[in-house]
Amino acid sequence: MRAVDIIAKKRDGGTLTAKELDWFIHNYTQGDLPDYQAAAWLMAVYLRGMSHDETVALTLSMVRSGDTLDLGDIAPVVVDKHSTGGVGDKTTLMVAPLVAATGLPVGKMSGRGLGFSGGTLDKLEAIAGYRVDLTTKEFLTQLRDHGVVVSGQSADLAPADGKLYALRDVTATVSSLPLIAASIVSKKIAAGADAIVLDVKVGRGAFMKTEADARALAEIMVEIGQGAGRQVTAVLSDMNQPLGNAVGNALEVREAIDALQGQGPPDFVEHCMAVGAQMLVLGRQAADTEEARQALQKALEGRRAWTKFREWIGAQGGDLSLVDAPDRLPRARLVKTVTAPRGGYVAEADAMEIGLTAVSLGAGRAKKGDAIDPAVGIVLAAKVGDAMEQGAPLFTLHANDETKLAEAERRVLAAFTWQDQPVEPPPHFYGIVG
Ligand code: URA
Repeated sequence: MRAVDIIAKKRDGGTLTAKELDWFIHNYTQGDLPDYQAAAWLMAVYLRGMSHDETVALTLSMVRSGDTLDLGDIAPVVVDKHSTGGVGDKTTLMVAPLVAATGLPVGKMSGRGLGFSGGTLDKLEAIAGYRVDLTTKEFLTQLRDHGVVVSGQSADLAPADGKLYALRDVTATVSSLPLIAASIVSKKIAAGADAIVLDVKVGRGAFMKTEADARALAEIMVEIGQGAGRQVTAVLSDMNQPLGNAVGNALEVREAIDALQGQGPPDFVEHCMAVGAQMLVLGRQAADTEEARQALQKALEGRRAWTKFREWIGAQGGDLSLVDAPDRLPRARLVKTVTAPRGGYVAEADAMEIGLTAVSLGAGRAKKGDAIDPAVGIVLAAKVGDAMEQGAPLFTLHANDETKLAEAERRVLAAFTWQDQPVEPPPHFYGIVG
Protein backbone atom coordinates (compact mmCIF):
# COMPACT_ATOMS: atom_id res chain seq x y z
CA MET A 1 0.00 0.00 0.00
CA ARG A 2 1.02 3.62 -0.50
CA ALA A 3 0.00 6.52 1.71
CA VAL A 4 -0.54 8.74 -1.33
CA ASP A 5 -3.19 6.35 -2.71
CA ILE A 6 -5.03 6.26 0.60
CA ILE A 7 -4.96 10.06 0.80
CA ALA A 8 -6.20 10.36 -2.80
CA LYS A 9 -8.98 7.84 -2.23
CA LYS A 10 -10.31 9.83 0.73
CA ARG A 11 -9.75 13.14 -1.08
CA ASP A 12 -11.99 11.87 -3.87
CA GLY A 13 -14.73 10.82 -1.47
CA GLY A 14 -13.96 7.10 -1.39
CA THR A 15 -14.53 4.76 1.53
CA LEU A 16 -11.39 3.38 3.13
CA THR A 17 -11.25 -0.26 4.12
CA ALA A 18 -10.36 -1.41 7.63
CA LYS A 19 -7.08 -2.75 6.18
CA GLU A 20 -6.15 0.59 4.61
CA LEU A 21 -6.94 2.46 7.81
CA ASP A 22 -4.97 -0.01 9.89
CA TRP A 23 -1.98 0.25 7.55
CA PHE A 24 -2.05 4.03 7.58
CA ILE A 25 -2.43 4.34 11.36
CA HIS A 26 0.18 1.67 12.06
CA ASN A 27 2.79 3.21 9.78
CA TYR A 28 2.15 6.74 10.98
CA THR A 29 2.46 5.65 14.61
CA GLN A 30 5.72 3.83 13.85
CA GLY A 31 7.17 6.97 12.31
CA ASP A 32 7.22 5.46 8.81
CA LEU A 33 4.86 8.10 7.41
CA PRO A 34 5.69 11.80 7.70
CA ASP A 35 3.47 14.40 9.34
CA TYR A 36 2.78 16.04 5.96
CA GLN A 37 1.08 12.91 4.64
CA ALA A 38 -0.88 12.43 7.85
CA ALA A 39 -1.89 16.11 7.69
CA ALA A 40 -3.13 15.72 4.10
CA TRP A 41 -5.08 12.60 5.06
CA LEU A 42 -6.61 14.38 8.08
CA MET A 43 -7.76 17.23 5.85
CA ALA A 44 -9.27 14.76 3.38
CA VAL A 45 -11.15 13.07 6.23
CA TYR A 46 -12.20 16.44 7.58
CA LEU A 47 -13.64 17.50 4.22
CA ARG A 48 -15.08 14.16 3.06
CA GLY A 49 -16.14 12.63 6.39
CA MET A 50 -16.21 8.94 7.17
CA SER A 51 -18.88 6.28 7.06
CA HIS A 52 -20.00 4.63 10.27
CA ASP A 53 -17.89 1.54 9.50
CA GLU A 54 -14.80 3.62 8.70
CA THR A 55 -15.16 5.47 12.03
CA VAL A 56 -15.39 2.20 13.97
CA ALA A 57 -12.42 0.76 12.04
CA LEU A 58 -10.33 3.91 12.59
CA THR A 59 -11.07 3.84 16.34
CA LEU A 60 -10.08 0.18 16.64
CA SER A 61 -6.88 0.76 14.63
CA MET A 62 -6.00 3.58 17.02
CA VAL A 63 -6.64 1.32 20.02
CA ARG A 64 -4.38 -1.33 18.40
CA SER A 65 -1.63 1.24 17.90
CA GLY A 66 -0.64 0.58 21.52
CA ASP A 67 -1.48 -1.38 24.67
CA THR A 68 -4.79 -1.59 26.50
CA LEU A 69 -4.74 -1.35 30.29
CA ASP A 70 -6.50 -3.91 32.40
CA LEU A 71 -7.61 -2.20 35.62
CA GLY A 72 -9.33 -5.32 36.99
CA ASP A 73 -6.64 -5.81 39.66
CA ILE A 74 -6.95 -2.26 40.95
CA ALA A 75 -10.67 -2.01 41.74
CA PRO A 76 -13.90 -3.75 40.75
CA VAL A 77 -14.97 -0.65 38.79
CA VAL A 78 -12.88 2.29 37.61
CA VAL A 79 -14.69 5.23 36.07
CA ASP A 80 -13.52 7.81 33.54
CA LYS A 81 -14.98 10.91 31.96
CA HIS A 82 -14.06 12.86 28.87
CA SER A 83 -15.26 16.08 27.35
CA THR A 84 -15.35 16.72 23.62
CA GLY A 85 -13.74 20.07 24.35
CA GLY A 86 -14.99 23.47 25.30
CA VAL A 87 -14.09 26.88 26.65
CA GLY A 88 -13.54 27.21 30.39
CA ASP A 89 -14.12 23.49 30.75
CA LYS A 90 -12.23 22.66 33.92
CA THR A 91 -14.69 19.91 34.89
CA THR A 92 -12.06 17.21 35.39
CA LEU A 93 -10.23 19.30 37.99
CA MET A 94 -13.30 19.23 40.19
CA VAL A 95 -15.12 16.08 39.20
CA ALA A 96 -12.18 13.66 39.41
CA PRO A 97 -11.43 14.29 43.12
CA LEU A 98 -15.14 14.76 43.90
CA VAL A 99 -16.07 11.34 42.52
CA ALA A 100 -12.93 9.69 43.93
CA ALA A 101 -13.80 11.13 47.37
CA THR A 102 -16.99 9.04 47.34
CA GLY A 103 -14.87 5.89 46.99
CA LEU A 104 -15.16 5.31 43.22
CA PRO A 105 -11.70 5.29 41.59
CA VAL A 106 -11.18 7.69 38.67
CA GLY A 107 -8.48 6.85 36.11
CA LYS A 108 -8.20 9.34 33.30
CA MET A 109 -5.96 10.11 30.38
CA SER A 110 -6.44 13.73 29.34
CA GLY A 111 -5.36 15.90 26.45
CA ARG A 112 -3.90 19.31 25.77
CA GLY A 113 -5.67 22.33 24.34
CA LEU A 114 -7.07 21.79 20.91
CA GLY A 115 -7.90 24.76 18.67
CA PHE A 116 -9.95 27.23 20.70
CA SER A 117 -10.71 24.68 23.42
CA GLY A 118 -8.59 24.32 26.53
CA GLY A 119 -6.92 21.09 27.63
CA THR A 120 -6.84 19.57 31.11
CA LEU A 121 -3.12 18.80 30.92
CA ASP A 122 -2.25 22.42 30.15
CA LYS A 123 -4.38 23.51 33.10
CA LEU A 124 -2.77 21.02 35.48
CA GLU A 125 0.70 22.08 34.35
CA ALA A 126 -0.07 25.54 35.72
CA ILE A 127 0.64 23.85 39.07
CA ALA A 128 4.44 23.68 39.18
CA GLY A 129 5.76 20.14 39.44
CA TYR A 130 2.54 18.37 38.38
CA ARG A 131 3.54 15.42 36.21
CA VAL A 132 1.39 14.66 33.18
CA ASP A 133 3.88 12.16 31.77
CA LEU A 134 3.28 9.15 34.00
CA THR A 135 4.41 5.79 32.72
CA THR A 136 1.80 3.08 32.62
CA LYS A 137 3.24 1.63 35.82
CA GLU A 138 3.06 5.00 37.55
CA PHE A 139 -0.51 5.53 36.29
CA LEU A 140 -1.56 2.21 37.83
CA THR A 141 0.28 2.84 41.10
CA GLN A 142 -1.24 6.28 41.48
CA LEU A 143 -4.71 4.85 40.81
CA ARG A 144 -4.23 2.01 43.27
CA ASP A 145 -2.75 4.17 46.04
CA HIS A 146 -4.84 7.33 45.70
CA GLY A 147 -7.99 6.37 43.77
CA VAL A 148 -7.50 9.19 41.29
CA VAL A 149 -5.06 9.77 38.44
CA VAL A 150 -5.07 12.23 35.53
CA SER A 151 -2.19 11.90 33.14
CA GLY A 152 -1.30 12.46 29.50
CA GLN A 153 -1.27 9.60 27.10
CA SER A 154 1.66 7.41 27.95
CA ALA A 155 3.59 6.43 24.86
CA ASP A 156 2.20 2.92 24.93
CA LEU A 157 -1.55 3.72 25.14
CA ALA A 158 -3.28 4.80 21.92
CA PRO A 159 -0.07 6.44 20.69
CA ALA A 160 -1.71 7.08 17.32
CA ASP A 161 -4.09 9.51 19.00
CA GLY A 162 -1.22 11.24 20.79
CA LYS A 163 0.41 12.00 17.43
CA LEU A 164 -2.72 12.78 15.45
CA TYR A 165 -4.16 15.00 18.20
CA ALA A 166 -1.15 17.31 18.14
CA LEU A 167 -1.24 17.43 14.33
CA ARG A 168 -4.98 18.16 14.18
CA ASP A 169 -4.58 21.07 16.57
CA VAL A 170 -2.40 22.94 14.10
CA THR A 171 -3.89 21.81 10.78
CA ALA A 172 -7.47 23.02 11.34
CA THR A 173 -8.77 19.45 11.36
CA VAL A 174 -10.20 19.22 14.86
CA SER A 175 -13.94 19.62 14.43
CA SER A 176 -14.58 16.45 12.49
CA LEU A 177 -17.07 13.97 13.91
CA PRO A 178 -15.17 10.76 12.98
CA LEU A 179 -11.81 12.19 14.10
CA ILE A 180 -13.20 13.32 17.46
CA ALA A 181 -15.03 10.04 18.01
CA ALA A 182 -11.96 7.93 17.18
CA SER A 183 -9.66 10.16 19.25
CA ILE A 184 -11.78 10.07 22.38
CA VAL A 185 -12.99 6.51 22.29
CA SER A 186 -9.61 4.98 21.38
CA LYS A 187 -8.00 6.65 24.42
CA LYS A 188 -10.85 5.68 26.66
CA ILE A 189 -10.75 2.02 25.61
CA ALA A 190 -6.95 1.93 25.93
CA ALA A 191 -6.98 3.50 29.41
CA GLY A 192 -9.07 0.58 30.62
CA ALA A 193 -11.91 2.18 32.65
CA ASP A 194 -15.03 0.04 32.89
CA ALA A 195 -17.46 2.97 33.00
CA ILE A 196 -17.08 6.08 30.88
CA VAL A 197 -19.13 9.28 30.93
CA LEU A 198 -18.71 11.39 27.81
CA ASP A 199 -19.49 15.08 28.05
CA VAL A 200 -20.46 16.08 24.53
CA LYS A 201 -20.49 19.84 24.18
CA VAL A 202 -22.96 21.66 21.92
CA GLY A 203 -22.91 25.23 20.69
CA ARG A 204 -20.70 28.08 19.59
CA GLY A 205 -17.73 27.10 21.73
CA ALA A 206 -17.95 23.40 20.90
CA PHE A 207 -16.72 21.42 17.93
CA MET A 208 -20.32 20.28 17.38
CA LYS A 209 -22.41 23.38 16.73
CA THR A 210 -25.84 21.79 16.59
CA GLU A 211 -27.67 19.44 18.89
CA ALA A 212 -28.17 17.02 15.98
CA ASP A 213 -24.40 16.81 15.29
CA ALA A 214 -23.62 16.45 18.99
CA ARG A 215 -26.18 13.68 19.32
CA ALA A 216 -24.74 11.88 16.28
CA LEU A 217 -21.24 12.11 17.82
CA ALA A 218 -22.57 10.90 21.19
CA GLU A 219 -24.37 7.98 19.59
CA ILE A 220 -21.39 6.67 17.68
CA MET A 221 -19.05 7.06 20.67
CA VAL A 222 -21.47 5.24 22.97
CA GLU A 223 -21.91 2.50 20.39
CA ILE A 224 -18.17 1.95 19.85
CA GLY A 225 -17.47 2.03 23.60
CA GLN A 226 -20.23 -0.42 24.38
CA GLY A 227 -19.06 -2.62 21.50
CA ALA A 228 -15.69 -2.77 23.28
CA GLY A 229 -17.42 -4.00 26.44
CA ARG A 230 -17.53 -0.71 28.38
CA GLN A 231 -20.43 0.99 30.13
CA VAL A 232 -20.81 4.30 28.34
CA THR A 233 -23.17 7.24 28.80
CA ALA A 234 -22.97 10.59 27.02
CA VAL A 235 -24.45 13.82 28.31
CA LEU A 236 -25.08 16.66 25.85
CA SER A 237 -24.16 19.93 27.55
CA ASP A 238 -24.27 23.58 26.58
CA MET A 239 -21.18 25.36 25.30
CA ASN A 240 -22.63 28.53 23.81
CA GLN A 241 -20.99 30.54 26.58
CA PRO A 242 -17.89 29.50 28.58
CA LEU A 243 -18.40 27.10 31.47
CA GLY A 244 -17.97 28.94 34.76
CA ASN A 245 -16.21 32.30 34.66
CA ALA A 246 -12.52 31.62 34.09
CA VAL A 247 -10.88 30.87 30.72
CA GLY A 248 -7.10 30.33 30.83
CA ASN A 249 -4.99 27.74 32.54
CA ALA A 250 -3.98 29.00 36.01
CA LEU A 251 -7.18 31.04 36.19
CA GLU A 252 -9.20 27.87 35.70
CA VAL A 253 -7.19 25.98 38.32
CA ARG A 254 -8.01 28.78 40.75
CA GLU A 255 -11.69 28.56 39.89
CA ALA A 256 -11.71 24.77 40.38
CA ILE A 257 -10.03 25.22 43.77
CA ASP A 258 -12.69 27.78 44.72
CA ALA A 259 -15.39 25.33 43.65
CA LEU A 260 -13.89 22.50 45.69
CA GLN A 261 -14.00 24.86 48.65
CA GLY A 262 -17.67 25.62 48.11
CA GLN A 263 -17.17 28.96 46.31
CA GLY A 264 -17.52 27.98 42.64
CA PRO A 265 -19.66 29.64 39.98
CA PRO A 266 -23.12 28.00 40.10
CA ASP A 267 -23.18 26.82 36.46
CA PHE A 268 -19.81 25.12 36.81
CA VAL A 269 -20.69 23.45 40.12
CA GLU A 270 -24.02 22.26 38.71
CA HIS A 271 -22.24 20.86 35.67
CA CYS A 272 -19.79 18.92 37.85
CA MET A 273 -22.61 17.60 40.02
CA ALA A 274 -24.52 16.35 36.98
CA VAL A 275 -21.48 14.73 35.30
CA GLY A 276 -20.30 13.29 38.63
CA ALA A 277 -23.76 11.85 39.32
CA GLN A 278 -23.69 10.03 35.98
CA MET A 279 -20.25 8.66 36.87
CA LEU A 280 -21.50 7.30 40.21
CA VAL A 281 -24.55 5.68 38.64
CA LEU A 282 -22.56 4.14 35.80
CA GLY A 283 -19.92 2.98 38.27
CA ARG A 284 -22.68 1.31 40.31
CA GLN A 285 -21.90 3.48 43.31
CA ALA A 286 -25.41 4.92 43.46
CA ALA A 287 -28.82 3.58 42.46
CA ASP A 288 -29.89 6.78 40.74
CA THR A 289 -28.72 10.32 40.09
CA GLU A 290 -30.59 11.63 43.14
CA GLU A 291 -28.68 9.31 45.47
CA ALA A 292 -25.47 10.09 43.58
CA ARG A 293 -25.93 13.86 43.98
CA GLN A 294 -26.41 13.45 47.71
CA ALA A 295 -23.14 11.49 47.96
CA LEU A 296 -21.32 14.15 45.94
CA GLN A 297 -22.81 16.97 47.99
CA LYS A 298 -21.65 15.29 51.19
CA ALA A 299 -18.13 14.83 49.81
CA LEU A 300 -18.04 18.49 48.83
CA GLU A 301 -19.46 19.89 52.05
CA GLY A 302 -17.40 17.59 54.26
CA ARG A 303 -14.26 18.81 52.42
CA ARG A 304 -13.41 15.23 51.43
CA ALA A 305 -13.33 16.32 47.78
CA TRP A 306 -10.86 19.08 48.62
CA THR A 307 -8.70 16.68 50.66
CA LYS A 308 -8.74 14.23 47.75
CA PHE A 309 -7.76 17.01 45.33
CA ARG A 310 -4.69 17.83 47.47
CA GLU A 311 -3.81 14.15 47.80
CA TRP A 312 -4.06 13.66 44.02
CA ILE A 313 -2.11 16.76 43.03
CA GLY A 314 0.58 16.14 45.64
CA ALA A 315 0.99 12.50 44.64
CA GLN A 316 1.48 13.55 41.00
CA GLY A 317 4.22 15.96 42.00
CA GLY A 318 2.26 19.23 42.14
CA ASP A 319 3.47 21.93 44.53
CA LEU A 320 0.83 21.95 47.26
CA SER A 321 1.91 25.34 48.54
CA LEU A 322 0.44 26.77 45.27
CA VAL A 323 -2.79 24.87 45.70
CA ASP A 324 -3.11 26.07 49.29
CA ALA A 325 -2.40 29.67 48.27
CA PRO A 326 -3.74 29.86 44.69
CA ASP A 327 -2.73 33.51 44.40
CA ARG A 328 0.80 32.14 44.05
CA LEU A 329 -0.10 30.28 40.84
CA PRO A 330 1.31 32.00 37.72
CA ARG A 331 -0.05 35.56 37.46
CA ALA A 332 -0.08 37.85 34.48
CA ARG A 333 1.69 41.21 34.56
CA LEU A 334 -1.27 43.15 33.17
CA VAL A 335 -4.72 42.79 34.71
CA LYS A 336 -7.53 44.96 33.39
CA THR A 337 -11.22 44.95 34.30
CA VAL A 338 -13.49 46.05 31.48
CA THR A 339 -16.95 47.40 32.26
CA ALA A 340 -20.32 46.96 30.55
CA PRO A 341 -20.65 49.45 27.68
CA ARG A 342 -24.42 49.61 28.21
CA GLY A 343 -27.13 48.46 30.57
CA GLY A 344 -29.46 45.58 29.77
CA TYR A 345 -29.49 41.82 29.74
CA VAL A 346 -26.59 39.73 28.46
CA ALA A 347 -27.96 37.88 25.44
CA GLU A 348 -24.77 36.08 24.34
CA ALA A 349 -21.19 35.62 25.49
CA ASP A 350 -19.76 33.88 22.44
CA ALA A 351 -17.68 31.00 23.80
CA MET A 352 -15.77 30.46 20.54
CA GLU A 353 -14.65 34.08 20.31
CA ILE A 354 -13.73 34.16 23.99
CA GLY A 355 -11.80 30.89 23.59
CA LEU A 356 -9.95 32.19 20.53
CA THR A 357 -9.14 35.41 22.36
CA ALA A 358 -7.69 33.42 25.26
CA VAL A 359 -5.53 31.53 22.74
CA SER A 360 -4.39 34.85 21.22
CA LEU A 361 -3.34 36.01 24.69
CA GLY A 362 -1.13 32.90 24.86
CA ALA A 363 -3.37 30.41 26.68
CA GLY A 364 -3.31 28.03 23.67
CA ARG A 365 -1.06 27.07 20.77
CA ALA A 366 -0.74 28.45 17.25
CA LYS A 367 1.57 25.66 16.11
CA LYS A 368 2.64 22.23 17.28
CA GLY A 369 4.90 22.33 20.32
CA ASP A 370 4.35 26.06 21.07
CA ALA A 371 4.77 26.93 24.71
CA ILE A 372 1.67 28.30 26.37
CA ASP A 373 1.46 31.03 28.97
CA PRO A 374 -0.28 29.57 32.03
CA ALA A 375 -1.02 32.98 33.55
CA VAL A 376 -3.10 34.65 30.85
CA GLY A 377 -6.82 34.52 30.15
CA ILE A 378 -10.20 36.03 30.77
CA VAL A 379 -12.51 35.98 33.77
CA LEU A 380 -16.12 36.80 33.05
CA ALA A 381 -18.17 38.76 35.57
CA ALA A 382 -21.45 38.23 33.73
CA LYS A 383 -23.22 35.31 32.10
CA VAL A 384 -26.10 35.03 29.67
CA GLY A 385 -29.33 36.21 31.28
CA ASP A 386 -27.65 38.52 33.82
CA ALA A 387 -29.03 42.04 34.20
CA MET A 388 -26.21 44.59 34.08
CA GLU A 389 -25.89 48.28 34.66
CA GLN A 390 -23.71 50.34 32.36
CA GLY A 391 -20.25 50.62 33.92
CA ALA A 392 -20.50 47.43 36.02
CA PRO A 393 -17.52 45.05 35.69
CA LEU A 394 -18.08 42.75 32.69
CA PHE A 395 -14.80 40.79 32.45
CA THR A 396 -11.18 40.93 33.54
CA LEU A 397 -8.28 40.34 31.18
CA HIS A 398 -5.00 38.82 32.33
CA ALA A 399 -2.23 39.44 29.79
CA ASN A 400 1.51 39.73 29.44
CA ASP A 401 1.57 41.94 26.36
CA GLU A 402 -0.01 45.39 25.93
CA THR A 403 -0.93 44.97 22.26
CA LYS A 404 -2.56 41.60 22.88
CA LEU A 405 -4.43 43.04 25.85
CA ALA A 406 -5.90 45.87 23.75
CA GLU A 407 -6.94 43.47 21.00
CA ALA A 408 -8.45 41.08 23.55
CA GLU A 409 -10.48 43.89 25.08
CA ARG A 410 -11.98 44.71 21.69
CA ARG A 411 -12.71 41.07 20.89
CA VAL A 412 -14.30 40.09 24.20
CA LEU A 413 -16.45 43.23 24.23
CA ALA A 414 -17.68 42.25 20.77
CA ALA A 415 -18.34 38.68 21.97
CA PHE A 416 -21.11 40.02 24.22
CA THR A 417 -24.51 40.90 22.79
CA TRP A 418 -27.24 42.67 24.70
CA GLN A 419 -30.98 42.86 24.91
CA ASP A 420 -33.36 45.23 26.69
CA GLN A 421 -35.80 42.47 27.60
CA PRO A 422 -34.99 39.67 30.08
CA VAL A 423 -33.07 36.75 28.54
CA GLU A 424 -33.58 33.12 29.52
CA PRO A 425 -30.17 31.54 30.33
CA PRO A 426 -29.43 28.53 28.09
CA PRO A 427 -30.11 25.07 29.54
CA HIS A 428 -27.09 23.26 31.04
CA PHE A 429 -28.01 19.97 29.39
CA TYR A 430 -29.81 18.88 26.24
CA GLY A 431 -30.13 15.19 26.97
CA ILE A 432 -28.42 11.91 27.68
CA VAL A 433 -27.42 9.15 25.25
CA GLY A 434 -26.75 5.60 26.32
N1 URA B 1 -10.96 15.57 22.89
C1 URA B 1 -10.21 14.55 22.43
O1 URA B 1 -9.63 13.79 23.20
N2 URA B 1 -10.10 14.40 21.12
C2 URA B 1 -10.72 15.19 20.25
O2 URA B 1 -10.58 14.97 19.07
C3 URA B 1 -11.51 16.26 20.72
C4 URA B 1 -11.61 16.43 22.06
